[in-house]
Amino acid sequence: MTNQIRVRGIKVGGGAPVSIQSMCNTRTDDVEATVRQIRELVSAGCEIVRLAVPDKDAAAALGPIREAVPDVPLVADIHFDYRLALAAAAAGIDKIRINPGNIGAPEHVRDVANACRASGIPIRIGVNGGSLEKDMLAKYGGVTAEALVESAQKEIAQLERFDFTDICVSIKSSRVPVMIRAYRLMAEKSAYPLHLGVTEAGTPAMGIVKSAMGIGSLLCDGIGDTIRVSLSADPVEEVAAAKRILRAAGLRRDGPDIISCPTCGRTRIDLIALAEEVERRLAGCTKPITVAVMGCVVNGPGEARSADVGIAGGNGMGMLFRKGEQVRVVPQAELVDALMELIDEM
Ligand code: SF4
Repeated sequence: MTNQIRVRGIKVGGGAPVSIQSMCNTRTDDVEATVRQIRELVSAGCEIVRLAVPDKDAAAALGPIREAVPDVPLVADIHFDYRLALAAAAAGIDKIRINPGNIGAPEHVRDVANACRASGIPIRIGVNGGSLEKDMLAKYGGVTAEALVESAQKEIAQLERFDFTDICVSIKSSRVPVMIRAYRLMAEKSAYPLHLGVTEAGTPAMGIVKSAMGIGSLLCDGIGDTIRVSLSADPVEEVAAAKRILRAAGLRRDGPDIISCPTCGRTRIDLIALAEEVERRLAGCTKPITVAVMGCVVNGPGEARSADVGIAGGNGMGMLFRKGEQVRVVPQAELVDALMELIDEM
């Protein structure tokens, strides 16, 4: 099991539930827009929100942002300038993402470690295939899992040197097999909690597939403590995708799991429309139930029986099941209403 860190009210690692992160894409110095987006992300289910802090203006905005969203776990994302990290810690930010190797002088690394220690906030080391050091690239002949892990270990050592171990680590690559291998290696070598992500995954169509493969396969192996899906899209979409990945990995039951068949030549009911309507009407439901929407009586009743509730269609009619018991047969037009009534009773 990994060590545990705490990001305001959210525990990360050490067996805590895997948390969902995203990152604002507003200008951080635009306090109003950033606060609005933080609230949107939190409403969508984001548990930790990261903000880019590229300059002094962004750092100066952190105080007002902190005041506007006092309970939201906030992470300041900083490159190179250790003074911005000190300013973020002073502004009440809950975690700093910075790589000691980018800071330069050891005394500056020490200052950041001491400031974070004094504020009780962790540091995420974020190694990224796109910014791997030249010596690592030369040693390993490119961005390999081994190169990413060695780079992360070097970064970790720079903080441990100042007795700072309140650390979380990410080792991202845009290449899914490299990312998976790197995290597996890291999990063998280190007990620091792991922040999973496929970096620069692309637009939602392919980016969600890459993220589900990379993040999802690691989660199924028990690796990973917090996740961020990176998409070229509204970050709210990242949160929705992250929630689905956690549900698919069996790590979240904060809503219904809908099982529906792909339809085939046996289907005698408008199953696709039915499944879409069920999904739409259950969008806000938080019951941890399994709902089956099946197109025929060949496989349908079996699946519907093992679900908490379900329907199996045929010739414009559908059978309604609850906990393995057939409830009744209703015409297609009434099926979804009847299913919703059953779910309301649960
Ligand atoms: Fe075809 Fe029935 Fe299977 Fe749906 S459940 S894919 S209709 S056999």
